[in-house]
Amino acid sequence: MKQEGDLARLTETFCVPNYRPLPVIVSRGRGVWVWDVYGKRYLDMSSCYSVLNFGHRHPRIEKAFIRQVKRLGVFSRAFHNDQLGPFSKELADLCGQEVAIAPKVLPMNTGVEAVETTIKAARRWGYQVKHVEEEKAEIIVCDNNFHGRTTTVIGFSSYEKYRDGFGPFTPGFPSIPFNDIRLLEAAISPNTVAFLVEPIQGEGGVHIPWRGYLKKAQEICKRNNVLLIADEVQTGLGRTGLTFAYQHELVYPPDLLILGKALGGGVYPVSAVVGSRNILGLLGPGSHGSTFGGNPLACAVAREAIRVLVDEKLSENAWQVGYYFLQRLKELENPSIKEVRGRGLMVGIELRKEVDTARSFCERLLNEGILANESRDCVVRLTPPLTITKKEIDWAVERIKRVLKDNAV
Ligand SMILES: *Cc1c(COP(=O)(O)O)cnc(C)c1O
Repeated sequence: MKQEGDLARLTETFCVPNYRPLPVIVSRGRGVWVWDVYGKRYLDMSSCYSVLNFGHRHPRIEKAFIRQVKRLGVFSRAFHNDQLGPFSKELADLCGQEVAIAPKVLPMNTGVEAVETTIKAARRWGYQVKHVEEEKAEIIVCDNNFHGRTTTVIGFSSYEKYRDGFGPFTPGFPSIPFNDIRLLEAAISPNTVAFLVEPIQGEGGVHIPWRGYLKKAQEICKRNNVLLIADEVQTGLGRTGLTFAYQHELVYPPDLLILGKALGGGVYPVSAVVGSRNILGLLGPGSHGSTFGGNPLACAVAREAIRVLVDEKLSENAWQVGYYFLQRLKELENPSIKEVRGRGLMVGIELRKEVDTARSFCERLLNEGILANESRDCVVRLTPPLTITKKEIDWAVERIKRVLKDNAV
């Protein structure tokens, strides 16, 4: 077996250092657990930022993946394949988008590609349907957003680290504070084609808006003929206790729904945009595309992921276990904790900057056998697989307690 140090050095020598990984080298996973190269076990409460809603190597998803690989792997959309149609229908059904609004699905690979797809669709809708003046379309975004890493998307990030040295950026993205309905209304101009928002800001530090925010935003958008685009790459597919986070508030789905991460079942990159024919139907032949988007392997894996989500009632589990987790964390009285917040199994512990940093907290969690992410400097984000049990939560809480004690000032 390679020594841990050698493997880390190999990565550091030959791989671009655009990440600062925690000091562990994982080599195997099963369910909520992963093992490092020495065989030490960790509870994965990072879940690759919500890719692993089904846990590592879910037996059914693993099987579907292997079954499809043995039949047909990647194939382009220059031809029909037998997986894309069923995938599109099953995803549209999951989104509850009734035949009335004629739902359409546009498959891509990564989250940011799906975000870019909605930008193109919304702009085209703006010009062709709303009749916004050429080259003037605006999409309102929120401060502290995270929508991915392409140049257009980082151009409307408010986080300097993401932008520094990468300009010039794409114009047309006014930014307003998250969770402020009055400023949304004020920001809308005749050129506004869409409002792009995360129902809960994940990377930004697990920020949950006040109840009613999304509903009000949808009303304002409707009244002003502006599309509501919900980026549920992280919150979608059961994470927050319902299939989609927008369902906590909205009666009608957003005009465009962006999915990714968990859609690939933890084994393959799959993303998609779901929305009405009136908008997505404007992307006709040749207007948009992706070599890998909608390939049979991607579709087969996503279809099984959707079925597992429903059959195993994972959203319900996220609701119940998530509530339990949040209560247990809220009971922890500690000077390091500023706030504990969450919905379903999307949980953040905000630390007091003066006392502790998220990075140090995650390093200490690692020593206790828990993998977690820092999001921004002072929030520890806990997003375990949705298959996690209360017993495993208890196991984790004991260790989180120890980590807090280590730091007690
Ligand atoms: C992760 C994420 C993205 C980007 O997804 P990639 O697959 O990394 O491109 C976009 N939006 C949100 C809300 C995300 O959490």
